[in-house]
Amino acid sequence: MAFQLLNGRELSLTVLTEIAAGVRKLIAAGRRAPHLVAVLVGNDLASETYVAGKMRACEQCGFRSTTLRFGNDVTQAELLAAIAALNADDEVDGFIVQLPLPPHIAEQAVIEAIDPRKDVDGFHPMNVGRLSIGLPCFVGATPLGLITLLDRYGIDTTGKHCVVVGRSNIVGKPTAMLLMQKSNPGNCTVTVCHSATPDLARYTRMADILITAVGQPGLITSSMVSEGVVVLDVGITRQPCATARSGYRLVGDVDFDDVAPHCAAITPVPGGVGPMTIASLMRNTYLAATANPLDQS
Ligand code: NAP
Repeated sequence: MAFQLLNGRELSLTVLTEIAAGVRKLIAAGRRAPHLVAVLVGNDLASETYVAGKMRACEQCGFRSTTLRFGNDVTQAELLAAIAALNADDEVDGFIVQLPLPPHIAEQAVIEAIDPRKDVDGFHPMNVGRLSIGLPCFVGATPLGLITLLDRYGIDTTGKHCVVVGRSNIVGKPTAMLLMQKSNPGNCTVTVCHSATPDLARYTRMADILITAVGQPGLITSSMVSEGVVVLDVGITRQPCATARSGYRLVGDVDFDDVAPHCAAITPVPGGVGPMTIASLMRNTYLAATANPLDQS
């Protein structure tokens, strides 16, 4: 079967270009550029890379961006004080705290300290709760990226069976929630699988749309999918690779070469969901500066 490649890298550039055009209009109207702050704790290489990518995207959009760095030994009280200052700062439209945090800091306490109106990652319970009942909110960047991919590639979701593998708070659960909403994209019948699901293939074979967010390379093989499925692979795992300049390569949960010939459409890794996540964070930051969803009902 000839499959369509869902090119997240290309689509993300389109989204960033649209946002940049909006920013130019704001500035022409005498407004300041949207401002995103990233709080980065410690020196985890993957976190450094993710934050650098987000800051580069800010530049492409014409946003102001700031990275606020703390050492691994920052106390929870110090971090909460920094968050309170960002909440109160009128020059900051949105901010993110890059996860994971060191083990001595309670992630949930940090997330709940963020003003929901500036929570452009969409992790605060206020945004998650509003998402679950279909109210305007900041939708997490990865779920929003997935929905945007489906929408912009014109993939009809109504009446389809969507199987989500993974139930994390940042990907699996909100994605399932979005796809079951009475909206388009949405209107799916949704099944959520996880590590306690027996016989995963029994469910994945029933999927019209299969979304995997696990972090296990090669988890999904051709024997686990039906002909004509749409596959969105969120998984990102670094695998050592002697021929890559960086010494590693990024792989998804899906055995791409084996599965792609059976798909109607599929995202690659890298270049699929990852760039759409960053573009969606930019979309949320633009919204925070222009039409905050928490002001709407
Ligand atoms: P997570 O919090 O570790 O969640 C993984 C989920 O997979 C859990 O719900 C787990 O089940 C489930 N799981 C584990 N083994 C399984 C198996 N054999 N069969 C079925 N389900 C299984 O991870 P996450 O934060 O959601 O991230 C998932 C992956 O996506 C990672 O590779 C991450 O790097 C990547 N990611 C990519 C982006 C992007 O922009 N592309 C964004 C975020 C994350 P339990 O709940 O039972 O433990």
